[in-house]
Amino acid sequence: MRNFVGLRAIPEMEYHRPIALEQALKLLSELKEGCKIIAGGTDLVPAARRGRMSSSGHIHIIDISSIKDLDYIIKEDDMIRIGAVTKLSEVGASTVVKEHVPILAEAASQTGSLQVRNLGTIGGNLCNASPAADTAPPLLALDARVNIRGIDKQRLVPLKEFFTGPGETILAPGEILAEVQIPITEPTAGSCFIKLGRRNAFTLSIVSVATLVKVKDGIFDDVRIALGAVAPTPIRASKAEKYLTGKKVSEQVIDDGAKVVTSEVKPISDVRASARYRKDMSYIVTKRALTMCFNGSQVTSFAGKG
Ligand SMILES: Cc1cc2nc3c(=O)[nH]c(=O)nc-3n(C[C@H](O)[C@H](O)[C@H](O)COP(=O)(O)OP(=O)(O)OC[C@H]3O[C@@H](n4cnc5c(N)ncnc54)[C@H](O)[C@@H]3O)c2cc1C
Repeated sequence: MRNFVGLRAIPEMEYHRPIALEQALKLLSELKEGCKIIAGGTDLVPAARRGRMSSSGHIHIIDISSIKDLDYIIKEDDMIRIGAVTKLSEVGASTVVKEHVPILAEAASQTGSLQVRNLGTIGGNLCNASPAADTAPPLLALDARVNIRGIDKQRLVPLKEFFTGPGETILAPGEILAEVQIPITEPTAGSCFIKLGRRNAFTLSIVSVATLVKVKDGIFDDVRIALGAVAPTPIRASKAEKYLTGKKVSEQVIDDGAKVVTSEVKPISDVRASARYRKDMSYIVTKRALTMCFNGSQVTSFAGKG
């Protein structure tokens, strides 16, 4: 039987709810084509309602949200490991995350509304591969890796190699993103996450930026800048990072470094903002985020007009 929502028909589908990762991987390997993984469903269900989940064959929904071995936040030595189905609300509230990687806690806390964060998962946020995914810039700046599991193999991939285009990742059929691994790095200056949206809350980013800065003897020692919503995938601004590294810290150098970012972004115009506005704001938010790394403020968000 078909379910009609508004004018769109959600295609016929069979629902599976494995409670262990191995079960989910077995289902994916046996059922092959037509399988669709669902975690919180906050991206997938609206997409299905917009008619973006059509299939010529039978669809098998594999609901991984009840898999307990994918739901955890653990600190192990100098690494934080987060299971893929951990809710964004849990990531945002975690004392471990807040203490060691506050830019991730802030980004998770700013994603959507409370209802969305209580359903949406960190794995879903990454696998949906929106250029505006809020957890991507902090995780890129933190040099995070993702553990990808298949039925008889696993691979550990730097997050910067995970996204291949809007809505596209390196995940092969049958694979599940199982874990996000974040090396703990203490920024000697600071870190900052800024999300610029059309409103202060409940909104997708027009531009987002995460910065992490280490300084030694007044010199930029390690500078990390990652941006969202300004290119087909979330990006690291490697030219700006290179420009700043080794230079003496000053307002002018920060301003010049932030300007370099505009040569690295490739924004589009959409309902939220024009490409030009996004490019201009990439410079503004990067400069602000780098500056805030030096004044003790770890995190912020602000609204701008689109
Ligand atoms: C009202 C509203 C507001 C929103 N606001 C924001 C916002 O401000 N910022 C933002 O970044 N996002 C926002 N979103 C998008 C969404 O809530 C997040 O991206 C969320 O983290 C998605 O997680 P999920 O578990 O619900 O993913 P799902 O919808 O379950 O899945 C998303 C995609 O990822 C795949 N997938 C999920 N988990 C895995 C896994 N472990 N392995 C392999 N594939 C997987 C699914 O097959 C699907 O293609 C919003 C959504 C809504 C409805």
